[in-house]
This record gives sequence, C-alpha cells and structure tokens, in this order.
Amino acid sequence: MNAPENPVRRLAADALSFENSYASLPPDFYTRLRPTPVPDPCLVGASAAAAQLIHLDPAEFAQDSFVQAFAGNRLLPGSIPLAAVYSGHQFGVWAGQLGDGRAILLGDVPAAGPSEDNPSGRIEVQLKGSGLTPYSRMGDGRAVLRSSIREFLCSEAMAALGIPTSRALCVVGTDMPVMRESLETGAIATRMAPTFIRFGSFEHWFYNNRKDALQTLADYVIDRFYPALRAAANPYQALLAEVTRRTAELIAQWQAVGFMHGVMNTDNMSILGLTIDYGPFGFMEAFDARHICNHSDYQGRYAYQMQPRIGQWNCFALGQALLPLIGEVEDAQAALEGYKPAYDAKLEALLHAKLGLRAAQADDGALIDAMFALMQDNHVDFTQFFRRLGDLEVDNPASDEPLRDLFIDRPAFDAWAAQYRQRLKQENSVDAARRPAMHSVNPKYVLRNYLAQVAIEKAQNKDFSEVDKLLTILEKPFDEQPENDRYAELPPDWASHLEVSCSS
Ligand code: AMP
Ligand code: MG
Repeated sequence: MNAPENPVRRLAADALSFENSYASLPPDFYTRLRPTPVPDPCLVGASAAAAQLIHLDPAEFAQDSFVQAFAGNRLLPGSIPLAAVYSGHQFGVWAGQLGDGRAILLGDVPAAGPSEDNPSGRIEVQLKGSGLTPYSRMGDGRAVLRSSIREFLCSEAMAALGIPTSRALCVVGTDMPVMRESLETGAIATRMAPTFIRFGSFEHWFYNNRKDALQTLADYVIDRFYPALRAAANPYQALLAEVTRRTAELIAQWQAVGFMHGVMNTDNMSILGLTIDYGPFGFMEAFDARHICNHSDYQGRYAYQMQPRIGQWNCFALGQALLPLIGEVEDAQAALEGYKPAYDAKLEALLHAKLGLRAAQADDGALIDAMFALMQDNHVDFTQFFRRLGDLEVDNPASDEPLRDLFIDRPAFDAWAAQYRQRLKQENSVDAARRPAMHSVNPKYVLRNYLAQVAIEKAQNKDFSEVDKLLTILEKPFDEQPENDRYAELPPDWASHLEVSCSS
C-alpha cells in the first residue's frame, strides 16, 4: 500500500524543525554568526507557494513573530546561523576569496517536495541582506529593497516557468537606510534551496591547495544531493558530468524564455544547476541576441548570446577545481564534453515545443535560424512573439494579424510564416491541439523590468500591493488572465531609461 504523499502540514515558523547540515562541515568552511538586527521591520511580500515547500503555514505571514524572524531580529529554534566561505572567477578573472558577504544561512528544514528532485529531503533557508560577515570585504552586508523585490519576484516567476531556481519565501523591509549610488531603503530577502553551494565553493579549496577540504566538500555534495553517483567508477568525475549536464540544460531553459542572468560569475553558479543569485537579470524584450542586461557588464561577457558558452566556461572552471579528485585530465575533459550535446538537445526540444512542432526534421534548424534573424531585424518582443505564434492557424492567414503587427518588415514575416505553415502541414498539425500546447510553454507574463520598477517605486512608498499583484500574475505565467492583459504589454517609453547594474 502506498503511503499518502506529502501530507499537508501547516507549521508555525517556530515549529520548522531547523537543523544545520552545513554546520557539520569543518569549521574553516564557514563562520558562525547571528544576523544583525534591523529597526522597524515590515513584510513587503511573501510567497505561499514557497512556504508550502517547507510546510510553513502562510497564515504566519501576518504574525509579527514571523516578520521578526525573517528580518534577522529573532532566531528560530534549532537554527545555527552561519556565513559560508567561497571564492570565484568574476567576469573571467580569478577574484580570490569572496563568501557570504551579506547572506546568512539559518539552517535547513524538512522539504515537502518529491525526493527525486532533492534527495536530501531538506531545504536550506538563508537571509540575504542580514548584516556584515567576515566575508563582506568592502560591502555593508546589506541589500536594498529594489534588488530584494526583484530577487523575490524573479525566483518565484522562474519556478512557475518550470526553470530550476532557488526560491524566495519573503522580503522584509526596514527603515534602515542603505547607501548605494543614492540613499535607499534596506531589506532582507529569504531564499530557499537544497543548498547554496557554488562552483566557487570548490574553486576556493582548489586555489588554496586544500585537497582534503576539496574532498570533504565533494563527498558532502555527492552524499547529500547526488547519492546515485556513489556507484560510479569515479564519483568525482560523475559529479562533474552531472553538474555539467544540469548547467547546460539550465542555460538552454534560460535561452528559451529569454532570461539573462547578468552576472554568471562562477560564485553565482549553483552546484545543483539552479538559477541563483538574482541581481541585474533581465527578460529579453525587443529581440537582440547581443543584448546585455547588466549595465556594469561593459564588455558584454554575459550578453544573451554569450550565456551558453559562458555556462560551459564555468563548467571548465569547476572541472579545474575538481581535477585533484578526478585524477586524469582526460577524465575531466570527458565529463565536460557532455555540455554541448546536453545543451543542444535541450534547446532543440524546447524550441520545437515553442514552435508547436512534434517531431524534429532535418531543415528545422534553418526555419528556426530564419525566425531569430527576423526577430532580430525587426526588434520583435521575445515573449509576445512566441505567445502570438500559438494563435496562428494553419489555413487562416487572417489569424496572423496580431503576430504580424509585431514586425516592421511585413513581407519578410509573410515569407517566414508561409514556410512555418508548410512545416506545420507536413506533420498534419491541428490548430486546436497545437494552440494550448504552445501556450503551455510560451508564457504570456514575464517579469519585465518596467513591471518590477512600478512595484518597487510603490513599495518604496510603503504600498506593497503591486508586489503581491505581480507575484499572483507571475505564478501563472502561461494562463491567459484576460483581466491582467496590460501586464503582458510592451514596456512604456519611460522604461527605455531603466538600467540595472551590479549595485544591489
Ligand atoms: P554578487 O555579485 O551579488 O554575487 O556578489 C559578489 C560577492 O560580493 C559575494 O561574495 C557577495 O556576498 C558580496 N557582496 C555583494 N554585495 C555586498 C554587500 N552589500 N555587502 C557585503 N558583501 C556583498
Ligand atoms: Mg553572488
């Protein structure tokens, strides 16, 4: 008899059964310390979906005790707060020691989700913006409301898009001012993931010539998160191969939805293949493969079209760090060779689904290349294009109008649409079946910068309603939600001046 899966439990924050598995690692992996309290915390936003992942009762959101706990003012029972050390390559250059400069891991709690996705069965809960740590370097240990709201909304939006990501439980604001280019409101975001261990966590021990610590970390990661790899002839090589595959597939998913991370430094790359460390990210609007979403990325290292090869570069950095454990260079190389086929296969499958094509055909590549070239030439909005493509009917040219309206060069669009129709006819595609299938993979709603900006400006005036509204919309990105049509619109003129940078 099957036991009932995930019995619904709704716990108070104080009953979360905190432990801290990371604290069982040797003491030089982290520094134990408490978050620094903040004055007058208030809840800016909270995700019931994220709460559910740890059995937390969303009714808790209304409690002052909840807000105090996730402001870092009150320690939850069982938590062992600590900041972890790591290093990394930033913008392609070895940056040496970094670490949780403003994040504090509270510990881990039992997970509600399926155990195939998370063999540890637990989820770590981390505060970001919770004060100085020994790894703060020149920083103040704080985060601003602006970036915290962006991380909160995007984490939950990515999860709803089906893209592997850390989750965000809540954002707590405080009257404490934080200095960036100008004076801003401070905030603390609570993030959750099975682990926040990064490629840079491994690089840290490699560059410090600490093979012992490197092995301790790798064994911890394998035993806790990749137990099946223990059976491999060379578990460290198998770990590199698996992380490489997950990273390749993650980036294919980013490309397919037009997501740009903005700071793909090795310290921002999750060892679980999750999207982590949301900063100056962006969703592609007017399509330009060279688009750079991070205003501080002067060289365009992390431009949209660069992401796949940067993902691969980062896997090589991880491979270098794991080499002392793997042994032979050839074995590390063999693991890394999986990147390109994994990326190509995932992207191809995603693009076929986006175009509503069932089986792959030899000349599909040409059709897809022509589509992106056309989108590029016409600066077509990425999200609107794919959404409207689903409304095209094989035998009804008039059905193209809303899609056609996105193009300046209409004859060029018509020529491509004719090819696409031809292709659909070849597989006897049925409009009524294809349309819902395409709409279930091509979101109508993504977190456009201007939408986040409106919510941020209201929140800075203590009106948090728009944060909640956006969360609700982005939790169902594939649903039509006709009452929210305007949230699917192109950015207004004022938004062309919006810039996001590493400052957060
Ligand atoms: P990021 O670009 O946000 O991934 O940060 C890179 C490194 O700088 C990480 O080690 C962060 O913890 C650290 N950092 C970023 N902002 C701050 C801050 N305001 N205070 C302390 N450390 C920070
Ligand atoms: Mg980071």
